[in-house]
Amino acid sequence: MRIPLVDLVAGYEGIREEIDQAIAEVLGSASFVMGPLVAEFERRFAGWCGAARAVGLANGTEAVRLAALSCGVGPGDEVITVADTFIATAEAISACGATPVFADIDPAIHVMDPADIERRVTARTRAIVCVHLYGHACDMDPIMEIAGRRGLVVIEDCAQCHGGKYKGRPLGTIGRIGCFSMFPAKILGAFGDAGAIVTNDEALADAIARLRDHGRTSKHESAVIGCNARLDALQAKILTVKLAHVDAWIAERRRLAAAYDTALRGLVGTPQVRDWAFHPFYLYVIRTPRRDELKRHLEAEGVGCGVHYPVPLHLQEAYAFLGYKRGDLPHTERAADEVLSLPLYPELTAAQQAFVVAAIAKLLGPAG
Ligand SMILES: *Cc1c(COP(=O)(O)O)cnc(C)c1O
Repeated sequence: MRIPLVDLVAGYEGIREEIDQAIAEVLGSASFVMGPLVAEFERRFAGWCGAARAVGLANGTEAVRLAALSCGVGPGDEVITVADTFIATAEAISACGATPVFADIDPAIHVMDPADIERRVTARTRAIVCVHLYGHACDMDPIMEIAGRRGLVVIEDCAQCHGGKYKGRPLGTIGRIGCFSMFPAKILGAFGDAGAIVTNDEALADAIARLRDHGRTSKHESAVIGCNARLDALQAKILTVKLAHVDAWIAERRRLAAAYDTALRGLVGTPQVRDWAFHPFYLYVIRTPRRDELKRHLEAEGVGCGVHYPVPLHLQEAYAFLGYKRGDLPHTERAADEVLSLPLYPELTAAQQAFVVAAIAKLLGPAG
């Protein structure tokens, strides 16, 4: 048996008719950039997130960049985030001319440790970009408390947490703005690049809607220097179709995660979930000190697996100029050495999941 880490073809097959019909409809409409299909997706996505507004964007990286820019992040500012994330989070901060400052994680849940934020705040700190990694919420109450006391803006990187909640509140609506990626492999994924922001701040939504389209106020008038970070109508239509299924897909992800939990307990470290988090399981991430050996073994058995993420951002060559060294973020570095993501998607069958578990037990079980 061969089991991929993600199976985008299976995802398409499950809704092929609806998708094919939707694509044909867009091609026939000859409205490809912005327009009513983008507006409809924005309305529905905002409603699903429980936010006043959503603005469709070209990708998740632009979502974080335009969010930071519109919240006033600029040259000379410091922005506190984590090094245990996809590099886009920090790139978006750097693209504003600001400096990312990396806080360590709570190693049990792989997200920003609020206590470590406090230690890194300086007179230049402008914002916090928290990342709900793998889908697990950051502990938002203490983060919002620190931000309130220090006058910082909170931006949520929600690229991995569509449908996730903190104490019953949808992620993306707790800070000033939430930034989503709809990259194909994400929980809600387009068939190409796509992204969005959500916010309850109407003026902020308007500012980002303007920036994404050359800062225009009319066809030939621009109020500010913007960019082209628009969402295609085709992707917006596909996302609207998929949005109607996403709650069912998340329920299936959670059921599969619970099945892994039961089957893998005692073999590896299974993901911990705080009682205040509703976890949509973008990734099912186990921990073992024998990670590299297990990864090689699973690949030899035909099981796709991944490491999210093997090189923390503070140790990336791109960020060498910041001057961090190994040992600066011990929990982040240890996670990078021990984490392994297993196949988890709504279409994963019981037989496939049993095969993954058996392959792990072969190496790490009592008989292994
Ligand atoms: C995927 C991802 C992004 C970037 O999204 P793109 O749509 O690929 O630009 C940003 N942050 C995190 C945490 C991600 O996982």
